[in-house]
Amino acid sequence: MKRAIFPGSFDPITLGHIDIIERALPLFDEIVIGIGVNAEKNYMWSLEDRLQQIRNCFKGHSQIKVTSFTGLTAEFCKEQGAGYILRGLRNTADFSYEQTIAQANEKVNGVDTIFLMSAPELSFISSSIVRDLARNQGDFSKIVPPSVQPPAM
Ligand code: ADP
Repeated sequence: MKRAIFPGSFDPITLGHIDIIERALPLFDEIVIGIGVNAEKNYMWSLEDRLQQIRNCFKGHSQIKVTSFTGLTAEFCKEQGAGYILRGLRNTADFSYEQTIAQANEKVNGVDTIFLMSAPELSFISSSIVRDLARNQGDFSKIVPPSVQPPAM
């Protein structure tokens, strides 16, 4: 069974994330979307909301599981029996950030990271842009799935 995890904050999930997941489906038997929970971070959407938003996008997809985790991504991989981490790359900033983490995960934990390049028309999308819009009553509906509604503020 070839299983990958797709870790992230997903605060909130965007059309960019969805594109990466859909394009990775032919590569793996199963993809586990893992919401990484960091006690020191403040999120705009609650963990429950984010789980619901993502589950709603992929209901009916038996190849996709959605859960949350704390601690190291590599430990989460082990728990899930996943041999691969899936990540999206939008630009050189993403690459620079991801490079050393991926190299360390391979050396230290034997887990390889598979990168997919973002679709050019989606590479401007980030969860932080959505949060900026949400904070200022902007319309973010064109860059997120319908399950993402304005946060309770
Ligand atoms: P993190 O806090 O771990 O960066 P994110 O939820 O922001 O979590 O992102 C999770 C993954 O999705 C990362 O690999 C990120 O590069 C990728 N990603 C985010 N936005 C896009 C996008 N618009 N197109 C492709 N990949 C994306």
